[in-house]
Amino acid sequence: MKIAFIASECDPFVKTGGLADVVGALPKALKELGHEVIIILPLYDSIRKKNLHIDPFFGSMGVWMGAGVEHWCAVKKTVTHDNIAVYFIEYDHYFARTGLYNDSSNNDYADNAARFAFFSRASLQLLMDMNFKPDVIHAHDWQTAPVCAYVKTWGWGGSGIDKAATVLTIHNIGYQGVYPADVYKYAGFSEWDFRSDIFEDHGRVNFLKAGIHYSDMVTTVSPTYARETLDGSQSYGLAPYLNNKKERYVGILNGVDYSAWDPANDKLIPAKFTPEKMDGKRVCRNELKKKFGLDSSKDVPVLGVVSRFADQKGLDVFAGAVERILNSMLVHVAILGAGDANLEKYFSWLPSIMPGKAGSYIGYNNDIAHLIEAGSDFFIMPSRYEPCGLNQIYSLRYGTLPIVRNTGGLADTVIQYNEKTGAGTGFKFDYLSVDSIYDSVGWAVSTYFDRPEHLKKMRKTAMTQDFSWTRSAKEYEMIYLDILKKA
Ligand code: ADP
Repeated sequence: MKIAFIASECDPFVKTGGLADVVGALPKALKELGHEVIIILPLYDSIRKKNLHIDPFFGSMGVWMGAGVEHWCAVKKTVTHDNIAVYFIEYDHYFARTGLYNDSSNNDYADNAARFAFFSRASLQLLMDMNFKPDVIHAHDWQTAPVCAYVKTWGWGGSGIDKAATVLTIHNIGYQGVYPADVYKYAGFSEWDFRSDIFEDHGRVNFLKAGIHYSDMVTTVSPTYARETLDGSQSYGLAPYLNNKKERYVGILNGVDYSAWDPANDKLIPAKFTPEKMDGKRVCRNELKKKFGLDSSKDVPVLGVVSRFADQKGLDVFAGAVERILNSMLVHVAILGAGDANLEKYFSWLPSIMPGKAGSYIGYNNDIAHLIEAGSDFFIMPSRYEPCGLNQIYSLRYGTLPIVRNTGGLADTVIQYNEKTGAGTGFKFDYLSVDSIYDSVGWAVSTYFDRPEHLKKMRKTAMTQDFSWTRSAKEYEMIYLDILKKA
């Protein structure tokens, strides 16, 4: 199959979240299954500054929008180490800015809707002008959801664009691209489509909703998140529209990159280890304790946190429980994260009132993230919602048992501990509250001290779970083939 990925982020070029990981890894896994995949991205300033080897491809390309507006942009191209062609739409008026979606004060750019309508439209123009006839066009999140609408509502001549099947992946339904309706004419969709089941949302435009309507298949990043968005508990208002599409909506778990996240060959940790030979994990724990100023004179397990400090992650509730935990249990905490100013303040202050028991690093630091995964015994993610989540999957591979809220991808990747048999890979709780966090950490800590044989067994089970991209790519491949059959 010929597949075109159209997205606003792709690791390692540009990343703000999990979307970039998927767009960075899935094409490679699909290529290994024998498909031809190309990726189209905006040429942001941050990509330019990386000084990568990027060549001119089209010196100029005309892109018609609605209302008779035509923009002239350029296209650049690079080829990744895995031999995947990546094309960049160069249009400085929209993309030569410091942030991707927000200015330096964290406000949305006022013209975001116009920027990504243009990018979606220009990406299709590129496919047409380079005569790439895709079997599948795979769009991601609200930013490129308009691609699915353009494919179905614009005239594409004999280019084959309208013959392509469109797939829209929702990485986080909390972000829908809802903007004032004055962009609608410029975007170039018909008045007829400005309806509450397509583009209209309380008088504004909603790009994600229109993408759901017009795509041939909608996916999200875990089966449980798919259910939670259908039953309305996590849909941010889009449940009715997803239910209209129920037969064509599935959750496929993201994979993780085990070449970067595996204690058997992780170059960023002080000692490597495997399920058969675990000595290195103790070395990592000692190093972690040293780095975070934790008391290493006694055998006390470490509870790790690596997270954005955002409402979604539930760390405000963890903050309400952590002092009680540290005052009453034999456990230490090592916290890495950044984001919400109040949580940054609280977690940077915590070590001063819990010396030797709590350590924190406020900021983004990949090396420390690896050290926490490797050196901790438990890892907590009390998320309010979690479309897929990566850190709990990394934790499993490092034998660091996750303590998670039973939601989204956390529910799908962690197996509940069975206290009778020692089966399972972690500790799950349903309701997000200070008490349930306290109880679940207590359950984990008591397992560490009272049932060490269970802990050993769980670690082994956790470390041998397979969440590789090959597995996910095969599921996407099946979906592509299925919609092509139906088309
Ligand atoms: P989300 O994408 O919602 O932030 P995920 O668990 O899916 O959550 O992925 C988070 C990714 O970002 C992981 O790779 C994690 O290691 C990394 N990460 C998050 N915060 C930090 C931080 N402060 N320092 C280093 N890495 C971080």
